[in-house]
Amino acid sequence: MGLFTRDIKTMDDLFVHQLQDIYYAEKQLVKALPKMAEKANDNQLKQGFLGHLEQTKGHVTRLEQVFQMHGIAPKAVTCPAIDGIIEEADEVTGEVADKQVLDAALINAAQAAEHYEITRYGTLVTWAKRLGRNDCAAVLQKTLDEEKATDKKLTQLAESGINLKAAS
Ligand code: FE
Ligand code: FE
Repeated sequence: MGLFTRDIKTMDDLFVHQLQDIYYAEKQLVKALPKMAEKANDNQLKQGFLGHLEQTKGHVTRLEQVFQMHGIAPKAVTCPAIDGIIEEADEVTGEVADKQVLDAALINAAQAAEHYEITRYGTLVTWAKRLGRNDCAAVLQKTLDEEKATDKKLTQLAESGINLKAAS
């Protein structure tokens, strides 16, 4: 987006911009997830991060597919929101001394990222349908479902013991 020009004129432009934003976010998460897995103490949490890393690589590929379906080249634009979430995660987890408390902090950070993705993909699915692109919507919906499942899994991990261990 230009500083003095307004590049987003149509709903379609806005859709493409948001695709470029989430494309950047997914790529940043591909870099962040291995670090989170490395920091995780609980084995299920570690495996969860690694499993979602593989899914996230698939999210990048799906977005490239949507760009292609839409007839444009994949391009990423900086997403300050995800940069902020990842930066905050690094800061907080860097401050935690106790391993079990660290796991709780990692879940907290990961869920912030998942919720960001859920809001973006939710909008993208709705917009794709509105623009008459049910084909794009279907691809984006697959990723949305995986993000929601990941968020649920993180809640289960937190509630099934990690929070308890962190608090004891
Ligand atoms: Fe994702
Ligand atoms: Fe995700």
